[in-house]
Parts: sequence; C-alpha cells; structure tokens
Amino acid sequence: MPVITPLEGLAQHGCLELHLTDRCNLNCKYCYLNEGGGVRDRRDMSYEVIDQAIEMLRIVKQKQQADADRLLEAIAAALAGTEVLKAQARLWHKQIAKLRQDLPKPRITFYGGEPLLAFERLRYVVEKTKDLVSHWGVVSNGTIGTPEMVSFCKAHKIGVQRSHDGCPEAYECTRGKAALEAYNLRSPLWQDYGKTRRVTVEPETAHFLWEDFKYFEKMGLGIGATFIPNYYADWKPEQIEAFKKGLWRLAAENIRRFKTTRKGIWEFWSHRTFPTFSNRHGGNFPQGCGAGRGLWSIGINGDIFLCHRFASESPESECCYGNIRDVLAGTARGYGPIVRARFEEMDNNVRPAQCKRCVARPSCGDCCHHTNWIHSGRTGLTQPPDAWCELKCEAAEIVRRQDNELRQIDPRWYTKIQQQSRRPPCAAAAPIGTEAKPEHLQLTP
Ligand code: SF4
Ligand code: SF4
Ligand code: SF4
Repeated sequence: MPVITPLEGLAQHGCLELHLTDRCNLNCKYCYLNEGGGVRDRRDMSYEVIDQAIEMLRIVKQKQQADADRLLEAIAAALAGTEVLKAQARLWHKQIAKLRQDLPKPRITFYGGEPLLAFERLRYVVEKTKDLVSHWGVVSNGTIGTPEMVSFCKAHKIGVQRSHDGCPEAYECTRGKAALEAYNLRSPLWQDYGKTRRVTVEPETAHFLWEDFKYFEKMGLGIGATFIPNYYADWKPEQIEAFKKGLWRLAAENIRRFKTTRKGIWEFWSHRTFPTFSNRHGGNFPQGCGAGRGLWSIGINGDIFLCHRFASESPESECCYGNIRDVLAGTARGYGPIVRARFEEMDNNVRPAQCKRCVARPSCGDCCHHTNWIHSGRTGLTQPPDAWCELKCEAAEIVRRQDNELRQIDPRWYTKIQQQSRRPPCAAAAPIGTEAKPEHLQLTP
C-alpha cells in the first residue's frame, strides 16, 4: 500500500488542522475531547511546535516547486532541437511555468478547545503562512469574540464556523444557560460574518429540530446550519425516530417554500445539511473523509493525528503518525498496524457486507474513523453504531425524494444550484436501483 506522508498529502491541496489550545470556556455534554478516556492538558500549542508546522508547510512548497522545475527541465530537454514542435514546446513551457506559480496550496483549520482563546497564536500562524496556504478556517464555539478578532478574520478572509446547539431548551441541555447568554452577547459582533453553524444534536435534543430551525430564523442565524447527531451517545429507538421526523418536517417545509417563493430554505437545509449527510464523501469514496491521508491534525505537543478529534489521544496511539519533529527529520514511525490495515482495506474497496447495497453508501465513507475508534477501538470500515446507519439511510432517502421534487418543480434552477455548489449531482438523488437499506434496519415508512 502506498503510504501517504503528511508532506505528500499537504502538497495535494491537503488540510492541516492545528489544535491550537486545549483550553475551553465551555464544557459541552458531547465534547469529543473527553471521549475514549483522552487526557486534556488545558495548555496552548507552544510556539516551537507552531514554527515546526510552518516549517513543514514551507518544505511542502519547496518540494512542489522543485518537482515542477524538474518537469520543466525534462520537457525542455525532450523537445530540444525539434524544430517542428518549437511553437508547441513554447506553449507547454509557458503553461507549466504558470502552473508552477499556481501550485495547489494546503489550507489550515484552527481547532481546540476554543481556538479563539489562543488568538495571538492564531494571528501568528496567519501572518507567517500567507504565501504557504490557500486559506484558513476557525471552528469556534461562538461565545468568544472581540472587535479586533472579527476585523482580523475579515481582513484575512478567515472562514469562521460558530457552532450552536439550537433553541434555548436544546442549548441549555448541552451547554448550559450561561453559554447561550455568552453566545447571544457575541452574536452582534459576528452578525455579518461567521454564518455557518454546526449544530450537535444529542439524543435528548433530537425532538427539537423543528424548534431549532424556527429559533435560528428568529435570531437571524438560519443560513448555513448543519445538524450533526452525536454518534458517541447511545440512541434509543424513539430518539432516532424523533430525529428522522425532524428531518422530514424540514424537508417538507423546504419544498413548500420553494414551490411558493422559489427560495425554500435551501441555504439552511438542502445546501448545508443534506449534502453533509448525503454527498460529503461522495467524491472521495472509499477514501472517506480524508483523515490521515488528505488531512492531518497537529496536537499541542506536536503529535500528528488522523484528525482533530484524536487530539487528546496518547502519542503512543495507533492513530498517531509521530511527532512533527520526526516528520521533519524523516524518521516518523507512521500509523500503527490497525490503522494501516484499515487504509489498505479502503484502497482495496473492501467493506462490510451490509454496506455493499446500502442506499447511504455514496455519502457514508463507512463511518467516521473517530466514531468507530470510540465504539470499537478500530478506525473506518468496521461496524458503525446503529444510529449512524439509521440516520444516514434516512437522510439519503429524504435527499433523494426532495431533490427529485425540486428538480421537477424547476429543472433549470436545480441544475444551476448544483453547478454553483460545485458538487457533483447528488448521488442520492439518482435512481436508486438495487440499493437498499441494510437488512438489519427497518424499512423507510
Ligand atoms: S466548545 Fe468544543 S472544545 Fe469546548 S467543550 Fe464544547 S465541544 Fe469541547
Ligand atoms: S450500512 Fe451503515 S456504514 Fe455501511 S454504508 Fe450504510 S450507513 Fe454506511
Ligand atoms: S475521522 Fe470523523 S471527525 Fe475526523 S475528519 Fe473524518 S469524519 Fe471528520
């Protein structure tokens, strides 16, 4: 199996996640950093590690340029003296020289803890990586912010996602009342910025989906919210049903509004939530989300993990690639045998029997590595929790029906939106053929 090192992956427009700090001002019920017995240090990433991460990005750029130069030289040598092809050669040379300037750059996402608590470090990274990355993103809990932070993010076009847990009843259940007050206090600062919202849904808050949606609309927070179930939790059948019911109600509302206004709640629901369920991993399947091969996370001590969710794992873990100083020295040990075996299975398109004819297959990626890790001690392609399969399958069905309806109502609009969203046509919207829910799950009502 070809091993993809962080240096190679980042050179292919990969993503570097920086776990900038382990500190957080909240204590969410579902915090993934507390899963699996992980230990949190409550410290910030040292500037030494930050400089090593920047050094890694500089090496990626130098390597890309050296490769392009070698290609240019090879073309020049191959075409030397071939009179007929001279004009053509000049053209190719020019195009490759341009490509050399526009080489795909990696991107950086800041995670924590709450990354805005380490804003000076964030600013330091951004200032030092302007020529090394294509863009930056921050995943914040939304309760932190100063005018200075907001204007810095705006000036550098840093994508800011402010997570939110929904209507007050849901929010208070997962984060507490004080957190909601802090969120609302900061919202005016971010009002025209940071509009995407991740909504983590607990089993206990699943029946609030419709109220969440109405609340977001009322508060002007509607655009770009994405509901993600907490798959670490144990879901009771009635809680899964409540979540499904909420999805269907939102889909129906989307279609109703679209019929009358041609606006629907596309941005809020179809454009964000459904693709997350239905098509997020479509282009990469079976490589899944890319964790460990297209994206890497650097923890506060410089240990490199599959993704940000592993940040509180031990450096001895299967899921740790090694420390960044070893990656720079070329001596990193790489992932452990279980993780390597899983990647090999993915490359060979090996998957559990239940996934082979599953309606959610194009979107699922055979479950999140971290969810599997917590549930079974393995990453990818193992048995995911039933709630995962239930909700993925239901969402795929909703997407298919909804997309077909929207397409029929206005085919030209549908095609335009698909093109604008830069996603391939929704796989789940295509005729399903022989695909079906896995047998151990009940049929869609
Ligand atoms: S805001 Fe994020 S890091 Fe902080 S407690 Fe909540 S889930 Fe954990
Ligand atoms: S059976 Fe479950 S894990 Fe397999 S593709 Fe379907 S939803 Fe994904
Ligand atoms: S392993 Fe899970 S949490 Fe990590 S990037 Fe993949 S889908 Fe996301």
